[in-house]
Amino acid sequence: MEHWRRGQVQCLEEVVDVPRISEALRLFRSWSAAQGLLGSRTEYVARTPHRQTLRFSRSGDPAIEESYRTHWVSPALSEKKRERLSAKQSRAPELVAIRPLNAEWTCHRCGGTGDLLMMDSPGPACLRCVGLDDLEFLPAGDALLTRRLKARSPRYAVVVRFSKTRGRYERQGLLVEPKALADAR
Ligand SMILES: [Zn+2]
Repeated sequence: MEHWRRGQVQCLEEVVDVPRISEALRLFRSWSAAQGLLGSRTEYVARTPHRQTLRFSRSGDPAIEESYRTHWVSPALSEKKRERLSAKQSRAPELVAIRPLNAEWTCHRCGGTGDLLMMDSPGPACLRCVGLDDLEFLPAGDALLTRRLKARSPRYAVVVRFSKTRGRYERQGLLVEPKALADAR
């Protein structure tokens, strides 16, 4: 799922058990219809600088894509609430910059390297190539400043590093617009 979200696989069906997912979708659709739930189309955008629309099916068949994209919501919610929910769920995910454990990596676009990389398709890219090398690093720790900058910096990316002991990526801070950082401080 994470690989798909980062645009590292062509479509979700490459990495899931398709017959089981199709059966689950079919059951879920008929259950949702029986409950009188309303279908709401949701955008799925890649966690990459390109923000491309994510594809679910191998075939790319519009009807299949639609069934994956549809979220089902209670008709008891007001139209305004349904719209807000749909907008929230369609929002593009945060950009993530990775501080690699292995310093020897190569940008697939320019052949260069750097302290930080961004997962791009078909490989990692340096910040200069994705147009984010002017951003400034704000270390994690100040929750208020972090929240302010997420709201005020037109572009930002979360910086993560893989923790071998915990077996997952951990947040190290944010890359933000220098002006937004100066203003927020
Ligand atoms: Zn590059």
